Amino acid sequence: TESNRLANEARQVIVGGVNSPSRSFKGVGGGDPVTMVKGDGAYLFDVDGNRYIDYLAAFGPIITGFNHPHIVEAIKRSAETGVLFGTPTEHEIKFAKMLTDAIPSMDKVRFTNSGTEAVMSTIRVARAYTNRELIVKFSGAYHGHFDLVLVEAGSGPSTLGASDSAGVTNGTAKEVITVPFNQVEPFKQVMEKWGHQVAAVLVEPIIGNFGMVAPVPGFLEAVNEIAHEFGALVIYDEVITNFRFRYGAAQDMLGVIPDLTAFGKSIGGGLPIGAYGGPDKIMNTVAPLGPAYQAGTMAGNPLSMQAGIACLEVLQEPGIYERMANFAEQLKDALLAAGTAHNIPTVVNQIGGSLTVYFSEHPVVNYEDAKNTDSERFGRFFKLMLDEGINLAPSKFEAWFLTIMHTQKDIDDTIVAINNAFSKLT
Ligand code: PMP
Repeated sequence: TESNRLANEARQVIVGGVNSPSRSFKGVGGGDPVTMVKGDGAYLFDVDGNRYIDYLAAFGPIITGFNHPHIVEAIKRSAETGVLFGTPTEHEIKFAKMLTDAIPSMDKVRFTNSGTEAVMSTIRVARAYTNRELIVKFSGAYHGHFDLVLVEAGSGPSTLGASDSAGVTNGTAKEVITVPFNQVEPFKQVMEKWGHQVAAVLVEPIIGNFGMVAPVPGFLEAVNEIAHEFGALVIYDEVITNFRFRYGAAQDMLGVIPDLTAFGKSIGGGLPIGAYGGPDKIMNTVAPLGPAYQAGTMAGNPLSMQAGIACLEVLQEPGIYERMANFAEQLKDALLAAGTAHNIPTVVNQIGGSLTVYFSEHPVVNYEDAKNTDSERFGRFFKLMLDEGINLAPSKFEAWFLTIMHTQKDIDDTIVAINNAFSKLT
């Protein structure tokens, strides 16, 4: 196919043929990723003219669909009036007000260009504010691709860190302690041992990177309480969870409030974006007010700001979150029913308009559980779904994301595809 031809051509000039490893088909048993030419609403079209109902949503950001007219209009307007000034603009103020209004824990915000930069900056600020160095994170949680968080971003045991990536120094790895998600006791033990040196505990309040995994009741509350008892800050990485389940952050839905929060993905209407913020007393640590340096030539650029404003305006439409959750529930029910009908052990973690299907006999509440699911079967399922015209993320550790553009007809068609795929799966 033309897509295969382009995949070969891409490999000649782009390392591995992809600009982010998660786009390769390595996690689903190999093969060429599909080259897409066009997105429209909830659909992607490949270079060979095939149409897909899309649940990748570009790994999250495309919550309003690929070309929402209100966002397209904002991007056009922005492009026509200059794409980058290197000066303050009114758009930054408007967008900052929208975010601080929607997220009560945040008095002040700073915009970045990616989720990675946002999380990285929160860590620097937390270290500057507390004058401490250690970071505690949860195993399997992905927080971007800077050195510090590539420590046990995909491995198990809770020890002083060993790195997951070549090129991360031992010195850096030693600054991170990793503990299992959803278990208070190991976290408590680590804090009792090192707590007075811990600058921050980095938490995805709802996990999005070993599938969607909800916190068990009381877990986030205990993390906050214990962290604060030792004078450590709590940082929420809401890069996936922001504006995914409600208009605003997940923290207000969960009722547990961190000291600093990192944002990204769904706030930008599909343009490069990140943001972080918190109360004045902590954010005043950031340059030019304070000693923690953080900057960016492209940060707060007019295109991303105006796309972000337009995106949040769209997300204020009443009923959209309920609708996405309802669709996700229908998909969950269909997956579980297909599992039963074909005698294939299937687990679905569905949270609002997102879900993950695991081929597993046991529930998935932490990274060990997620790793212990059937990768080979997931790889075959992924490819069968692709053949049925459904585009999912090419990894058993990723979620399906509903968008406001999906229709009941798309869900019905996807359920037919699920049943066809399961009948060939065994
Ligand atoms: N944090 C989380 C929870 C993420 O899922 C991601 C991206 N998958 C990041 C941080 C990094 O964001 P970005 O890819 O925009 O740098």
